[in-house]
Amino acid sequence: MSRAWIGLGSNLEQPRRQLEQAFEALAGLAESELLARSSLYRSAPMGPADQPDYLNAVALLQTRLEPLALLDQLQAIENDQGRRRERRWGPRTLDLDLLLYDDLVMDHPRLRLPHPGMAERDFVLLPLLEIAGDLEIPGQGKASRLLAKCQSRTAEKIA
Ligand code: AMP
Repeated sequence: MSRAWIGLGSNLEQPRRQLEQAFEALAGLAESELLARSSLYRSAPMGPADQPDYLNAVALLQTRLEPLALLDQLQAIENDQGRRRERRWGPRTLDLDLLLYDDLVMDHPRLRLPHPGMAERDFVLLPLLEIAGDLEIPGQGKASRLLAKCQSRTAEKIA
């Protein structure tokens, strides 16, 4: 069994409902078990500012799915929830990122691990730290130290 950390984000079509539905879908994934889920966090949009705030959260899965098979499942959940993606960093109904898979480091055309950018994003690190206080990001150090170095801090716990 492996441990996979998933980042969830939404800023369209009732984001709270989108994230709750995504947690349910993650809990129902084959060959996997949802071990933990963070609270929800609100954060200012990254990139274009003319879009609603985001809700973000993190989930921890225990899984027998290989990394690319898991990514396929995450993308299927995004599609089921009618993901629309009109522009880079633009609004979306649901974004699921595979943040970490055990301590794997990989650079595949479809999958980079650890997820690029996660180490600089407070809206990823805060929920991650809530459910794994001493987590280390392979090649980058302790998540708590990375959070302290984040340039932009807008994420706030809401539930
Ligand atoms: P985005 O629109 O930011 O969600 O990016 C989706 C694209 O990023 C897809 O084509 C994925 O194959 C690719 N990708 C690369 N690494 C990852 C990762 N760690 N988690 C999710 N998507 C990834």
